Amino acid sequence: MILVDLAARAGGPFRVFTLDTGRVHEETYQMMETVRQRYGIAVEPAFPDREEVERMTAEHGPNLFYGSVAARKMCCDVRKVRPLERKLREFAAWATGLRREQTAARADIAKVEESGGRIKLNPLADWTAAQVEEYTRAQGVPVHPLYGRGFASIGCAPCTRAIEPGESERAGRWWWEQGGPRECGIHFAADGTVARGAALKTDA
Ligand code: SF4
Repeated sequence: MILVDLAARAGGPFRVFTLDTGRVHEETYQMMETVRQRYGIAVEPAFPDREEVERMTAEHGPNLFYGSVAARKMCCDVRKVRPLERKLREFAAWATGLRREQTAARADIAKVEESGGRIKLNPLADWTAAQVEEYTRAQGVPVHPLYGRGFASIGCAPCTRAIEPGESERAGRWWWEQGGPRECGIHFAADGTVARGAALKTDA
């Protein structure tokens, strides 16, 4: 949300999109509506391909992600990775709220990356959780309701839980997978060629 707030204050044209996997929390839809009203901007949902979801669900069941890491990655691929790839074709540049301290896999992310002719910005890469909290409080940035219930990273409802004191920010993601990277693959696969405008993506 800080990215949206910063962009709105900067005043330039930008678009905001989010991956609506079909499995997100009701509170996430509430948050989308809050953003629409607070900033007066459209939040564009990027949906998965209907036929791909129907085929996957029919063959593997609605909760396939609990069955194996491979099944979980298949679901993330259908519901997140491919929709993101399709959506990114509309943009020359996009920005995310990824931060280096969130996981070991994000420890080396740069503030500016280039892939497939597209620019990816991670302006909060060196922000700490304390800085995020301070900016949010000071600027009155809207907060996802689940943060108040112990969630530290919010994705799909069946794959996200609140964390315990001392756990890492991403510990609540795919918590049943031991020692996994806590990533769905979308953050390191920005590709595509069509260029038009700039975008912000809410975190996944
Ligand atoms: S987070 Fe879970 S429900 Fe969401 S796309 Fe990945 S496996 Fe599927």
